Amino acid sequence: MTLQTRINASRRSPTVLVAGGAGFIGSHLCDALLQRGHTVICLDNLFTGRIDNIRPLLNHPNFRFIEHDVRDPIEIEGDIDRIYSLACPASPRHYQKDPVGTMKTCVLGTINMLELAQRKGARVLQASTSEVYGDPEVHPQPETYLGNVNPIGPRACYDEGKRAAETLMFDYHRMYGVEIKVARIFNTYGPRMLENDGRVVSNFIVQALRGEPITIYGGGTQTRSFCFVDDLVRGLQLLMESPSSITGPCNLGNPHEVAIEAIARDVLAYTESISPLRFEELPKDDPKRRKPVIDTAVRALGWRPRVALKDGLKATIAYFAMRMAGEAPALVP
Ligand code: NAD
Ligand code: UDP
Repeated sequence: MTLQTRINASRRSPTVLVAGGAGFIGSHLCDALLQRGHTVICLDNLFTGRIDNIRPLLNHPNFRFIEHDVRDPIEIEGDIDRIYSLACPASPRHYQKDPVGTMKTCVLGTINMLELAQRKGARVLQASTSEVYGDPEVHPQPETYLGNVNPIGPRACYDEGKRAAETLMFDYHRMYGVEIKVARIFNTYGPRMLENDGRVVSNFIVQALRGEPITIYGGGTQTRSFCFVDDLVRGLQLLMESPSSITGPCNLGNPHEVAIEAIARDVLAYTESISPLRFEELPKDDPKRRKPVIDTAVRALGWRPRVALKDGLKATIAYFAMRMAGEAPALVP
């Protein structure tokens, strides 16, 4: 019996665990799953997540929040059909604060989610990252590219941690038959990023709105490809619900590649800010270029991003402007 048939036969809404559900991407995913009628269990230790992100959901009859660190094993009563394994700080500023803790979150956290999936017969999706490609020597990056990661650098706790997490996913799949999905997520942005997140889009927007200098690291010629969070969340769900033969890894990102200085200029234009540009030192091992090949997602999931950078940036600017004015927008499903 397939998982979907089992869900249908049981005549109950699927129960979905979102580890990291109080974070930026996780909270949007919780919203989307509730909107689809699922029962959602959100697991988070609130390291970089915040209750504000899920506050409108706390009284929802199909929503439950459990404060828990995924590095510790967990037992949850009742059925669980799907596990989204998103719990991990994603911004270099946060994941480098406690690199050993980050590596443990990637390795022990993934093991604990896989063990739970095995016990519950649940399907599990791991949020992997374009960082598994490191500073890529192949451009753009298809899933077949094996990467160029410095294993002893300051980014390694995250990059190598996520690579180890992918290894664990495929070993649990091969050894124990756990149903897995591996999404390699490229830079994603949108409402609910943290003001002090350190990531480029949130930094530039907050700086522009405050009239502070826009901090460009290095020459600003390095590139990234930015995906709006709604597109990403749709892609994650499509991957999760794809046939069990599709394990990934599957790149999810927007192939529209832009230089960091161009992002700064866009943000200045859309915020009508007169903040000056300030060039600062480039962090060690900062990848020079990044752009996904999304042929797998297009072919296997029928997914491609829909939100243009301009529209996504404007929506994100509107969110930060409201937060800075003290009006936290409540997005109720
Ligand atoms: P985020 O920091 O906003 O969310 C991560 C969430 O996980 C937070 O709520 C945090 O409190 C929680 N968390 C961290 N460590 C935990 C632990 N040990 N136990 C329980 N909860 C823990 O980051 P995000 O941007 O929403 O990223 C979500 C996932 O997507 C992460 O796994 C990240 O690696 C992956 N990802 C994100 C991006 C991106 O551009 N945003 C790109 C690639 C991959
Ligand atoms: N960056 C920047 N100024 C900032 C924050 C980041 O120029 O205030 C640069 C950073 O050096 C990198 C790019 O923007 O080249 C993306 O950084 P981010 O931390 O958002 O994501 P990642 O490096 O993990 O892709």
